[in-house]
Amino acid sequence: MLNVSDARFPTRLTWLLFALVILLIGLTLRQNLKQIESLYLSDTLNSAIHLQDQFQRTDTFLEAMRSQAEERLRSDPQSALTRQLYSYIQQLPDQGLVLDKLPADLPAGLAGNLTGEGPLPPPGSEREARFHLALSLSPLLATASQRLGEEIAWVYFTGVDNFIYLYPWIPSSQFRFSRSIYEKHYWQDALMSPNPTQDTILSRPYEDFAGLGTMVTMSQPLYKDGSLVGMISMDILLSRLQLQLDRLTPALGQYLLLNQYHQVLASSTKEPRIPQDLAPTVQYQWREGALQLTLAVPDTPLLLVHSVTLLPLAWTLAYQSAPTLLAILFLLLAALSNLRSHRLNQRLNYLSCHDALTGAFNRHYLVLLEQTGSLARLRPGMLMFDADHFKRVNDNFGHAVGDIVLIRLVQICQQQLGPSDRLVRWGGEEFLLLIGHSDVSRLGELAEQIRIAVADHDWATIEPELAVTISLGYYPHEESIQLHEAVRRADMALYQAKANGRNRSERWLGDAS
Ligand code: GH3
Ligand code: MG
Ligand code: MG
Repeated sequence: MLNVSDARFPTRLTWLLFALVILLIGLTLRQNLKQIESLYLSDTLNSAIHLQDQFQRTDTFLEAMRSQAEERLRSDPQSALTRQLYSYIQQLPDQGLVLDKLPADLPAGLAGNLTGEGPLPPPGSEREARFHLALSLSPLLATASQRLGEEIAWVYFTGVDNFIYLYPWIPSSQFRFSRSIYEKHYWQDALMSPNPTQDTILSRPYEDFAGLGTMVTMSQPLYKDGSLVGMISMDILLSRLQLQLDRLTPALGQYLLLNQYHQVLASSTKEPRIPQDLAPTVQYQWREGALQLTLAVPDTPLLLVHSVTLLPLAWTLAYQSAPTLLAILFLLLAALSNLRSHRLNQRLNYLSCHDALTGAFNRHYLVLLEQTGSLARLRPGMLMFDADHFKRVNDNFGHAVGDIVLIRLVQICQQQLGPSDRLVRWGGEEFLLLIGHSDVSRLGELAEQIRIAVADHDWATIEPELAVTISLGYYPHEESIQLHEAVRRADMALYQAKANGRNRSERWLGDAS
């Protein structure tokens, strides 16, 4: 049969389209978020590796100094250099021991200042050996200081028995040993940390004695026969760490460099947001409203945290996804406009096939039925009917009532029809019924059913005095007869019914009848 619209189809399709678009947008955003995450992950891993390199550079010198010191502990720490420096250690009345004056023939930058509580240790004593041990580290302290340059502030050996050998040299008036050094973090943290692997111990941040600023100390304790001899240390100013981190500034969000106590050593922003949850992760995770990666910097006690809060992340994601989102939007618009024209087409189709007043099919529909071959498949009998004295209805009750009557006639008639029957408004108050696969007796019965239904209808619900009847003529299907001839014959039968007194039905009995 001829397809006349299912109105729900485009609406369902629109919803489906929206669902598809939402799904596409979701997938695009998810995919792009993954891409962003893997980009950030490789950036942050690189930054962590850079920090690890820096840490290890310093660590290598500490290692070298400790192993040299251990070597000297096993043999004799004294050398020509240490004896020469030792001979310049002065005992000042109130300040104890100082190495304020260096031998004139000593190459510049080779020695630091040894300060401590006096008096000079007796020859051959353990303390004297420790002084020599400290002084023997001079070339290594100088090399480390030179090679690491500004990365470290001080390199030094702190003895257990109240002395410190500090490089580079500064006069004892600016810095000298004090027992309060043993209360400092670098000493306490190193003593507290169990150090079976002899890893470098990183202290908590503390204020420099010499007033350079806040710093952390990397230390390696030195033991002889299981007891502590002293500590070899390097101080790193937090401002230097900050400079290093500044070079690694992330594309988005903040970097935090933390120590093993989760204290902030440096951050890429002035007012960093410090997360509560700092358990190391291997991938980005949502924590406290931010995308966060907490990397343990390999072989160091450091943590590098990268976190990006929702808003900047959403912007980046939107920016990154913009081309795809735009493409999806254009696709959506194209599909919507397609749907709209589909709807319009459906409406046009309906209008071109239906009578605007009654909703019955129109003559154009009949033409289409014929052209598409549907009519031949339907093998319809023709039933024509016409309202009796309709002019009077108009005259007596007005044209508007006439219209309502026509609409009602169609409704009454449609109630009598089967699925393969078609009702066509032929013109004015005249209608043609195509009764599919019918024989003459079915046509006759149907004609009477419709006639009685109309005559018995309660027309007074429209107008009190109104009564309507119809006359019908029919002609059964015959293969050899063309549509227009079949219609003409049904019309002739209708004419006969009018002639025979109206409100009746007649079968076509030949043109002469
Ligand atoms: P008969 O019983 O012989 O058919 O008499 P009749 O008055 O119905 O016949 P006639 O063909 O003379 O009149 C038909 C009338 O139907 C004339 C026309 O004004 C009216 N008519 C045609 N189309 C419409 C319509 O859409 N609305 C209304 N209200 N009247 C219509
Ligand atoms: Mg009429
Ligand atoms: Mg008429």
